[in-house]
Amino acid sequence: MIKRSLADIEQMAQGEGLRLEYEGLVAQGVSIDSRTIVPGQLFVPIVRLDDGHRYVEEAMRKGAAASLWQKDRPHPPEDIPLIMVDDTLSALQRLAAAYRVQLPVKIIAVTGSNGKTSTKDMLDSIFRTAYRVHKTQGNLNSQVGVPLTLLDMKETDDFAIIEMGMSERGQIERLSLLARPDAAIITMIGLSHLADLGTREEIAAAKLEIAAGLMPGGALIINGDEPLLTGSETIRQLEGTVDVIRFGQQAGNTYAATDEEQSGSGISFRIDGRPDRLELPLLGLHHVGNALAAYAAADRYGLPHRQIAEGLRQVTLTPMRMERIRTQGGHHIINDAWNASPASMKAAIRSLAELNGYRRKFLVLGDMLELGERETEYHREVGEGISCDAVDFVFTLGRLGRAIAEGAVAASFPAERVCSFDRMESLAEQLKAAAQAEDDVILIKGSRGMQMERLIGMLE
Ligand code: ATP
Ligand code: MG
Repeated sequence: MIKRSLADIEQMAQGEGLRLEYEGLVAQGVSIDSRTIVPGQLFVPIVRLDDGHRYVEEAMRKGAAASLWQKDRPHPPEDIPLIMVDDTLSALQRLAAAYRVQLPVKIIAVTGSNGKTSTKDMLDSIFRTAYRVHKTQGNLNSQVGVPLTLLDMKETDDFAIIEMGMSERGQIERLSLLARPDAAIITMIGLSHLADLGTREEIAAAKLEIAAGLMPGGALIINGDEPLLTGSETIRQLEGTVDVIRFGQQAGNTYAATDEEQSGSGISFRIDGRPDRLELPLLGLHHVGNALAAYAAADRYGLPHRQIAEGLRQVTLTPMRMERIRTQGGHHIINDAWNASPASMKAAIRSLAELNGYRRKFLVLGDMLELGERETEYHREVGEGISCDAVDFVFTLGRLGRAIAEGAVAASFPAERVCSFDRMESLAEQLKAAAQAEDDVILIKGSRGMQMERLIGMLE
């Protein structure tokens, strides 16, 4: 993590006003949370719903080395090391950007509507076979999370894998400009954030912003099956200055998957023109695309096929991504409750359909949030895609979840095997009565706000 004198930090963050007597003090690490601050860290009070400046003195009492202070906030405390800045979030980002360019580390940035965290975990697993790797912890992919992740890099790291998320235009561009990636991946374009961005074209344009900060001679690794990416004006313009690498199912891609298979132990596929199959201990053929993207990045840095294969074989994902769980009562659960969008719902349903070895399959789906005006239609469409040959029971939770159930029944899924609930407790009770431990499998999914994972505790 960053370790610099306060004088250096003041300069890197483009702050001012640090008293001379404090200039030689050193801060190690950065925190925005006074509850978890570690002695010696720099405290950065972020102004959101709650104003972090209220916690500056508490952070200092707990041993913070210094704090930033936004100039328009009244009453800066005296007699503590303060660096005055125009805006604490921008200053945090400038500090991270300045730190990043001081390090020899190679940065691989990952964005896309779905699959960012999964791809990040795969890259980590692959690069770890040969290098010292830093990666985004959990899902820390925001305007605050990315700078904190960069500031956490060690001077000795060879690679850093940085997940970048967004909810509006301009955010990915800002993150890319501060992380200056050597390679950037766009996993896929879906419908997440449609409510904010309006159209899929806008979503694609927002993801393409990741090219803004690419280092000279860098690589842009894109989903080659997505016309909104491959056919975009941005890509045409970039083609002269960066390497555009395409991955996907279609044959013309630089990295094209063939012979994809899913079995009880995971998925496997081949890449056109490469030796041996690649295997991942994960459920869901949508992970083939993520693995291709990770393969492309690793290949660019010269990792041999054998080693990439080894990394993919060992991957473990961040929890709640198609995570297989066995409850104490013996229920087989696939916990995919981290988040949900139409694309990831369909991918999860397909994965459950292709899974063998269980007597009956239960699909438990909650609302997909933030889909905008056409939310009901998107839910119905997901429901219409559920085939009674592939799934035995559909349970839904929430107002929008009901539209999934309606879609399923409208597309002739047997109504007696579809149940909608408004309360999770009632759903859990019914599910417990219907699903048999040992033999059946239950896939759980919904938007983050639905917290569908709480069901697992209720089944115990
Ligand atoms: P978030 O925006 O919440 O950070 P993310 O982009 O990091 O999401 P993951 O956490 O990797 O995505 O996966 C989220 C959900 O999307 C999971 O249900 C996962 O199974 C599904 N998913 C992952 N990759 C893909 C893909 N390439 N296409 C469709 N669905 C995917
Ligand atoms: Mg994520």
